[in-house]
Amino acid sequence: MATKKPVIGLLGGGQLGRMLCEAAGPLGIPIAVLDAEDCPAKQANQNSLHVTGSFKDPEKIKLLASRVDFLTVEIEHVETEVLEEIATKGVEVPSPDGKGTILKKVSVHPSWKTIRLIQDKYQQKEYFAKNGIPVAEQMAIESGEGRADSLDEAAWKYGFPFMLKGSKGSYDGRGNFKVSGPEDLKSAIEQMGDQPLYAEKWVPFEMELSVMVLRTEDDDGNLKHVYPYPVVETIHEDSICTKVFYPPRSIPEDVKKRAQKVASDVIASLWGRGVFAVEMFLLADGHILVNEVAPRPHNSGHFTIEAVPQMSQYKAQLYSILDLIPRKGANLNARVPSSIMLNILGGAQPTSHNRFVELAESTYDEYTDVYVHLYGKESKPGRKIGHITATGLSSVERLAETITPLINAMDEIRA
Ligand code: ATP
Ligand code: MG
Ligand code: MG
Repeated sequence: MATKKPVIGLLGGGQLGRMLCEAAGPLGIPIAVLDAEDCPAKQANQNSLHVTGSFKDPEKIKLLASRVDFLTVEIEHVETEVLEEIATKGVEVPSPDGKGTILKKVSVHPSWKTIRLIQDKYQQKEYFAKNGIPVAEQMAIESGEGRADSLDEAAWKYGFPFMLKGSKGSYDGRGNFKVSGPEDLKSAIEQMGDQPLYAEKWVPFEMELSVMVLRTEDDDGNLKHVYPYPVVETIHEDSICTKVFYPPRSIPEDVKKRAQKVASDVIASLWGRGVFAVEMFLLADGHILVNEVAPRPHNSGHFTIEAVPQMSQYKAQLYSILDLIPRKGANLNARVPSSIMLNILGGAQPTSHNRFVELAESTYDEYTDVYVHLYGKESKPGRKIGHITATGLSSVERLAETITPLINAMDEIRA
């Protein structure tokens, strides 16, 4: 009989959770998901351990914790107070004699400390700066009465354009406002509402890079190792990631190495096991600034499913949490020379993306394969409802040329 693996509880059952479940299936790792009944992850993985409800509801999180050995997240916008309580004090479960209850501790990975820090993008970058990691200049913007003056100060300090960002809860650029000139200040205040804000100096980057990093740690919370995946180039349009290129197009080897080093240093400064994304800006003079970290599998790591099949970001997440990464390390090298990931964003009609998917299904040649991933989500304009990964046996430039009709078809849906 196969050995029984511990159960991993997952907060959030969107596409990242779904792909985590897809990786866990053949490895025999049971996953219990807390999210809505018909969420993408549960569609891919049926079992009796799932909990129906919101991953923001402390009582549901405790119920999930009572059923599992480890807890992890597919989204950083979760309630960390209850995660701290579960990790440090424990969660009530029936005692073995059935007469009462006992407290069971459940390890939370990445640590609730990391999730709490990352949730606040301003605090996150203050912490990185304190640890010697290069980030863009930023300043907190006052709330209430002082807001307008505080914004004026940011404009004076950074000039135009500058970025105004919500500190918490943002994703896909939804909490960002580019302040292009004095005329934008009023509408920035109106649009951003009364949430906590910070201003960030505009970064005239040449390219955006991302490195997924695998972090291992012992049961006492001591860092064992950080292992970087190969660096990728990410393209954002309207602040949402649309394309990922492996390897990045035309950047020198030493820049790739430095990006991996910066990313590894960032993740070494955090807490807990798992994979983490480090988003970076590459400047014209070769400097690298860290934009932000995601404490979980990430869009920029989807390509690893096909390009790093021996240890995709999802398998790495599972193995790291269960402390199964071999002592000698993990091989995170790509098995193909090139790969391009295109997000499938919902178009104006629920069926807008069908043509793109059909085209993807028929795009291949001797050197090129295309893999379609649909997430089982309802299509809405601009929503990430799937992605495709193309792998190539030639250069990334050549691969881009081969899949140009696909790239154009995706751009048409967005237009
Ligand atoms: P995610 O979905 O990655 O969590 P987010 O909502 O947290 O996105 P950011 O990563 O802060 O948003 O910004 C989204 C994009 O906006 C960046 O990838 C980059 O293209 C652009 N951007 C962000 N900050 C700056 C800046 N200071 N200067 C120039 N461009 C920026
Ligand atoms: Mg973000
Ligand atoms: Mg980002």
